[in-house]
Amino acid sequence: MSSGSPVSLPPCAQNQSYMDVSALDGGRLALPAWLILGGIPKGSSERIDMPSISFLLRHSASGRRVVYDLGIPRREDLSTLPGFEAFNKALSSDEDEPCLLRHHTFPGDGCVEDSLIKGGVLPEEVDVVIISHLHWDHIGDARPFTKADFILGAEAKGTIAGEDLQTRKPIVVPISAPAERMHFITEWETSIGGLRVHDFFGDGSMYVLDTPGHLPGHVAVLARTSPDGAWILLVGDTVHHRSILNGERDFASHDDGHGGIMCAHVDPELTRDTMRKLKALEDMPRVQLLLAHEDIDKDVFLPGKFVPLA
Ligand SMILES: [Zn+2]
Repeated sequence: MSSGSPVSLPPCAQNQSYMDVSALDGGRLALPAWLILGGIPKGSSERIDMPSISFLLRHSASGRRVVYDLGIPRREDLSTLPGFEAFNKALSSDEDEPCLLRHHTFPGDGCVEDSLIKGGVLPEEVDVVIISHLHWDHIGDARPFTKADFILGAEAKGTIAGEDLQTRKPIVVPISAPAERMHFITEWETSIGGLRVHDFFGDGSMYVLDTPGHLPGHVAVLARTSPDGAWILLVGDTVHHRSILNGERDFASHDDGHGGIMCAHVDPELTRDTMRKLKALEDMPRVQLLLAHEDIDKDVFLPGKFVPLA
């Protein structure tokens, strides 16, 4: 670990609150492998078909419901979804301009709203939506979440305001939530494993983690899943593939043809540092790290849930 200090997780309190965690189907996408994994020549035909998974977390003491990420919007909603105008235009345009979106295909159409309803939860019953970052396959459609507060990392604010030149691309999309229900985390009261964190409920049941590198304002979630010290770590897009987390592969990085680099991460070195810290947390006993873009057992999708690690 770069901080040099040993990793430790917060101890359990008396009557410790925790979170029940379920997966939600946020659709599927297929990308050229050369955009994700290092060592594959640019333009190779190899593809990776992957889900975009979201998560429902329920607070044991209050019953409050939190959703982490909203996945891919329904295809038929793209033309009416606020914020997606440039995205939809780039996706449907046949102009021969270089755009990464042209490489995406959609092998399956899932939707967080439908996945919630199928599992017995209405979108209007969700109290909090945490958005890991503003990429189109994570922000979904906020409109059905009529009562929720939307939580984002502080740096996402500048991106939404269009101030962040690095992120002005059609794949970065301002979320379709009302401004008065959007909240940006600016106070990180403590740290875990070298990452700044916000204790969301103030009782150690769920931490939002400042996980910089992939896109400004990227946040992860560390949730306690039992009163006696089991955890789930939701890492968003800091890691796209398990082989990268395990150090078997590097993430993709290519010459962009204009003297710069083409990489899925805005700041590759910062992403590496964040990833190392997340990996150190995963290596702790009873911590289950989950990627957004990795297939998982169907039993953990709502109304099912993750069994806390013993
Ligand atoms: Zn992303």
